[in-house]
Amino acid sequence: MSAPEKDPIEEWAEHQKGAHLQCRIWQHNWRPKNVARDNTYHVMDITLRCTRCGALKDFSMSTVKRGRRIGSPKITLPDGYQREKGMGRIMGEDRDLLYYVTVLQVAGVQERATEA
Ligand SMILES: [Zn+2]
Repeated sequence: MSAPEKDPIEEWAEHQKGAHLQCRIWQHNWRPKNVARDNTYHVMDITLRCTRCGALKDFSMSTVKRGRRIGSPKITLPDGYQREKGMGRIMGEDRDLLYYVTVLQVAGVQERATEA
């Protein structure tokens, strides 16, 4: 029996870093990297870093209305994370397949013993 033909998403995933695929599936694993308080403007500039892929997320919070976010966060993805322009978002069945491929890559597979 020949192996089933590879789906383009599977083909693409083979050339991606494991950490990048995992973050696509399970989202980034943000942890604080740097927090700088500015007492003149009453803001805290916060940088989070993904412990898995190294992406950075910068945003500001008010120190007066404690924790209220100011503006939108800026995310800086590591080199090679983003898909080439025009490839589009991975959705629907492609996303299911990417999930499947990523789980296999991370966990490996143990064959369940079948009784003879
Ligand atoms: Zn990440």
